[in-house]
Amino acid sequence: ISSSHLIRSVTIRAERARTLRSFMVRDNLTGLLNHTRIKEQLKQEIARASRREGAPVAFAMLDIDNFKQINDVHGHPVGDRVIKTLARVLQQRLRQTDFIGRYGGEEFGVIMPDATAHEARNVLDAVRQSFSRIVHAAGNENFHVTFSGGVAAFPDYDDAGELATRADEALYQAKTAGRNRIHELHDGDDERHTDDG
Ligand code: GH3
Ligand code: MG
Ligand code: MG
Repeated sequence: ISSSHLIRSVTIRAERARTLRSFMVRDNLTGLLNHTRIKEQLKQEIARASRREGAPVAFAMLDIDNFKQINDVHGHPVGDRVIKTLARVLQQRLRQTDFIGRYGGEEFGVIMPDATAHEARNVLDAVRQSFSRIVHAAGNENFHVTFSGGVAAFPDYDDAGELATRADEALYQAKTAGRNRIHELHDGDDERHTDDG
């Protein structure tokens, strides 16, 4: 086999692998939608809701609390198992029409069509409570895990990018307020903060 022929066939294979990867929508560890897919879906849901006047779309960012410590104390594979458990709980507890994605390491993004920020917060708060009661086992030790969440919604925010930013801001508020809680952010919250000083 000539080297030019070999290079060409390897190049073709590499291109094919790249194309296939671009079609992948699922996260390997959890089977949830990946980051790209959930952001894309959020754009679609906002566009759809814009055409149906009055329909809200809530977006939530969830992040496991003190996850680094779970890895440090129990090891990375146990951390992976905790991530999978939360993924399964979300799949079981949310609606068939909701979209659940793994946003990054121990962060999740959830799209809830037809839900206001307040409705989404209530649903996720119930999920938060039941998840916090799960007993995780590692060797001879049992432990509990919690997560925090931030919620924002269309039409308070009408751009997918801004919605994600606001949900992240709400998540940050939940973290600084002490973790193991869900915060919601609304249009005008910034102004109110300014008024309060
Ligand atoms: P906080 O409550 O502020 O969120 O604290 P934290 O420790 O969870 O925050 P941080 O984001 O600093 O830590 C996340 C850690 O998650 C860091 C990284 O090593 C770990 N991590 C990221 N992806 C994975 C993964 O796929 N599996 C496991 N086991 N750990 C991961
Ligand atoms: Mg994180
Ligand atoms: Mg975390």
